[in-house]
Amino acid sequence: MKPEMARERLYLFDTTLRDGAQTNGVDFTLNDKLTIAGLLDELGIDYVEGGYPGANPTDTELFGKQRLLDTTFTAFGMTRRPGRSASNDPGLAALLDAEADAICFVAKSWDYHVRVALETTLDENLASIRDSVRAAKQKGREVLLDCEHFFDGYKANPEFALACAKAAYEEGARWVVLCDTNGGTLPHEVEAIVTEVCKVIPGDHVGIHAHNDTEQAVANSLAAVRAGARQIQGTLNGLGERCGNANLVSIIPTLKLKPEFSRQFEIGVTDAKLKDLLHVSRALDEMLNRAPNRHAPYVGESAFATKAGIHASAIMKEPKTYEHVPPETVGNRRKLMVSDQAGRSNVLAELERIGLKVDRNDPRIATLLDVVKEREAIGYAYEAADASFDLLARRTLGKVPSYFDVVQFDVNVEQRYNALGERVTVSMAVVKVKVGDETLISAGEGNGPVNALDLALRKDLGKYQRYINGLELTDYRVRILDAGTEAVTRVLIESQDETGERWTTVGVSPNIIDASFQALMDSIVYKLVKAGATA
Ligand SMILES: [Zn+2]
Repeated sequence: MKPEMARERLYLFDTTLRDGAQTNGVDFTLNDKLTIAGLLDELGIDYVEGGYPGANPTDTELFGKQRLLDTTFTAFGMTRRPGRSASNDPGLAALLDAEADAICFVAKSWDYHVRVALETTLDENLASIRDSVRAAKQKGREVLLDCEHFFDGYKANPEFALACAKAAYEEGARWVVLCDTNGGTLPHEVEAIVTEVCKVIPGDHVGIHAHNDTEQAVANSLAAVRAGARQIQGTLNGLGERCGNANLVSIIPTLKLKPEFSRQFEIGVTDAKLKDLLHVSRALDEMLNRAPNRHAPYVGESAFATKAGIHASAIMKEPKTYEHVPPETVGNRRKLMVSDQAGRSNVLAELERIGLKVDRNDPRIATLLDVVKEREAIGYAYEAADASFDLLARRTLGKVPSYFDVVQFDVNVEQRYNALGERVTVSMAVVKVKVGDETLISAGEGNGPVNALDLALRKDLGKYQRYINGLELTDYRVRILDAGTEAVTRVLIESQDETGERWTTVGVSPNIIDASFQALMDSIVYKLVKAGATA
């Protein structure tokens, strides 16, 4: 047996809570920050940057707390201001006093910015770096220096950019992090410049912080590693201002699953924890109330989805034929989509996945395939609506109990003046449902007709109510289709329950309320089937 070569340690630094928090529309509470820090710690991220103590009350409070995490919890802030001593700078004092394991300073490394933005001399900038690193080391903190605009600075004045990096390293900073702050540097440039830096500073003290403005932040991070850098900074789901930061959710599996990296490097994320990646990614989306990116590499719903029938039969025989890594390694799953292009193999695979046992030669499979094709021709989209397909399959095979009947519903939209004299539009829905021998009438008021109908439908389902209490509508999409002689509306509804499971249902009709009603009904019935409710 060949002796295993000792692998080098590569460190991961997450800045979701600091750089990611710069994103438009993102506003983490203290609790959000503690939850995300906990998830990152569990995952095995080496450094978690919590924020900027002294800059806002949330971050100040966060760094006043005991956190009991294994990760190196890092505070971010500026080096001492020009013209001040380190002991006479209140911003620096707040940073040094924060309950942090490490301090990440940010300093300018582009001469143009030093002169124009900071209005000081290059020497004073270098002195500020040295003094700040020294002060933090004296406080017993691990120190990192983010060299802002490093790549643009290096192109303009390589001596000065390198001098900034060296000043921090020589003063004892554990890491000198090269930042592509404007995000415009390309992978081959990153590789060339990091190679030069690593001739002056050992690579196991060099980090990369890439932004995604040319959609190459992940590639730039990997290029830096190839050139010798040993720390990667990034965020969950690539969160960050403008086009975002390097996406750790793509970087981590690449480092773990691509032999070029996995043979050479070891990271703090174990194989077992890698399986939690999808969950961690979705948890952040949920906190931000965002629909997950279906096309996200590795963790997206479509990342391992195959549509065409001919591919599907190959995938069932040998998954490697169309998958670059096994989906289970990152907690995802293979998805064979049922659509008008579908062959028998897609349908069979989908039936197996949802746990419906059917003989391969059962004539009802051909019936199901025909029904799917007919319905897709009039606008249904089963590849997007997994739960509606599940119900259609069960119905075709005769396996959905008749739980309840909506005898009648009524929706109205009213525009009027309210007590403040403002013009408002409100909707009311009344639903009459028959559950067994019981007839239930519920009303709901909402900001729109579908919202009102949804609330009324889910208000009282009698003996089934307990199954749907945790049901929540998380996304609603409408498309107008031109299907032959008249325009029809397709509604896709995404729902979620108390376990965090999500599913999508579809409805199609010339009338938008009717299409929405079909999708809402499918969502509720799917939940009841899933919960094992009996009629
Ligand atoms: Zn940044």
